[in-house]
Amino acid sequence: MSRTVSFCFDDGFAATAGKVRALFEARGLAATFCVLAAPGETADPFIRAAPVADWGFWREAVAAGHEVEPHGWAHERLADLAPEAALAGFARTFDVFRRELPGFDPAAHACHLAYLTAPPGLVAGLAPQVLGVRQALGGAGLNAAVRPRVDCITFGDPADERLKARLDDFLEDEDGWLVLVLHGLDGEGWGPVRADTLARELDLLLAAGARIETVSRTLRAAA
Ligand SMILES: [Zn+2]
Repeated sequence: MSRTVSFCFDDGFAATAGKVRALFEARGLAATFCVLAAPGETADPFIRAAPVADWGFWREAVAAGHEVEPHGWAHERLADLAPEAALAGFARTFDVFRRELPGFDPAAHACHLAYLTAPPGLVAGLAPQVLGVRQALGGAGLNAAVRPRVDCITFGDPADERLKARLDDFLEDEDGWLVLVLHGLDGEGWGPVRADTLARELDLLLAAGARIETVSRTLRAAA
């Protein structure tokens, strides 16, 4: 299997999203933005601390070739909710995406779990409604095959060094599909990396012949 890397940017930070668009588009690449239906209702301190982009921005990002996909209603810890309440939250989230993103169909997109986790019963209820479910499955973000249960990895501080180390290991020793979750750039969000670090790692991956593709395009190509 050749090497593919997907970059997800969770939580929808506005300044980060603009920088990511510029970095990716300058290289002819697409990013996966994972955004909340109701970010104003979140209790997460990192999301409350920085402005998120609005739907006008996300429509432009989709038009430019990026994926904008559900990250849930307001970043709840899904294990703290009754399963019915959690699934109802995803249903409301999909309604917002259908209303705000013309042509959006949850069955054609991955769903990206807040805090990278959810109870197994909840995932079983969600999975038939979507193209894939992205969560931490214990494989350090490496998927040996393209399957609807998508493993991913994210990095706390110092995230620059951890991102670099993960990509070095991937290029030296591994094949398959690596799914990375970042939050903000240049100080925004949880575990931020510097924009220049991201630019350098994108260029190293491209120079090594790795494909950089969105999560859902990778899933659709394998379907
Ligand atoms: Zn998140």
